[in-house]
Amino acid sequence: MGRKRQKAPNIIKRRLPSQYLCPNCGKNTISIVLKLDEGIGRIICASCSLKNQFPIPEHVQPVDAYCIFVDKYYGVEEPAIQ
Ligand SMILES: [Zn+2]
Repeated sequence: MGRKRQKAPNIIKRRLPSQYLCPNCGKNTISIVLKLDEGIGRIICASCSLKNQFPIPEHVQPVDAYCIFVDKYYGVEEPAIQ
């Protein structure tokens, strides 16, 4: 009697700055994975399942990788060289 239910520990969810705005669906659901040993970055959108993988320079921060991705995303079509 009076068996206590195991209480879920009160985990404070830190909002890591690892979710970024998705240029495809416009939600803050982009996750960035950096494979620094392989020199690649991966982004995955939890909302629209947009995925991408691209080479990254050494020692980049996730936000830098995000910038690279966004540049690539919007720069898919190579600008005409004049
Ligand atoms: Zn998305």
